[in-house]
Amino acid sequence: MRNKLLFAQLNAGSLVLYTIPDIQLGVGDSEFSKGLKLYEKGAVKKISDSFSGFRAIVSGTHEYHVGVSTEAYDRGICDCYVGQKDELCKHMIALAIAVVYKYRPKDTEPIKHPVDQAVCSGIVRDATENELDKAKSEINKGMSFLKRFSGPSSKWFQYQSSLVKGSRIILLALSNLPVCEKSVIIIINTLKCLDRKACGGVDDSDGTVGDLLFKIILVLNMFVDFNPNIKTFIKKKLPKGEVFDWESGFYFKDENVKDSGIIN
Ligand SMILES: [Zn+2]
Repeated sequence: MRNKLLFAQLNAGSLVLYTIPDIQLGVGDSEFSKGLKLYEKGAVKKISDSFSGFRAIVSGTHEYHVGVSTEAYDRGICDCYVGQKDELCKHMIALAIAVVYKYRPKDTEPIKHPVDQAVCSGIVRDATENELDKAKSEINKGMSFLKRFSGPSSKWFQYQSSLVKGSRIILLALSNLPVCEKSVIIIINTLKCLDRKACGGVDDSDGTVGDLLFKIILVLNMFVDFNPNIKTFIKKKLPKGEVFDWESGFYFKDENVKDSGIIN
């Protein structure tokens, strides 16, 4: 047992359970870029590790004493104003980023586009089986974060962050899909599933799921931008939502242009 513990202590870095994309998806574009900026300018100093986590000094306006767990980038401490309110601050994010660079250098490849915005791959071709399976598995992973709220009110913020994280995972999976009919079917099934979730007790008071649906419709609009021929297919497949009105969000730019007689 003693040897086992010693081994774990020596390899605290190998116990880091998060990667740079995990942090990005968890905290979003704005907070991630603040943390990354601190890390890149060398503000994270004197990293030391123990069995359960890491400690460091992070310099900002002052020098802060910061700690972060090996298991979760959002579990930590910091003596700055935000950290003292028990909220995730940019110093903890900077330390989490530094820890991944130090102990999991192979997992530092960031997600290349914003995680809080609708993005389209812009690749017009059929999706491979592998791409479709990967997308479905990521969507399922994201969906698992969109649960019914059952906790005490003290868990409300944690619950909302989990909705946001799940939404980012789903949006990322859809953003990576090539523009084709198979991808459209996956996207529409995702819309249907989200609609059921909204009916089935996800507490969307902050509008996170509604916002995700809006962004997914934007992805479909971008599909049409990259391949106008896919418009009819999307229109045929797009059902009426129980909770959300999807059709009003799916506009057909070129039809409008033709109607107004500006072009051709
Ligand atoms: Zn802090």
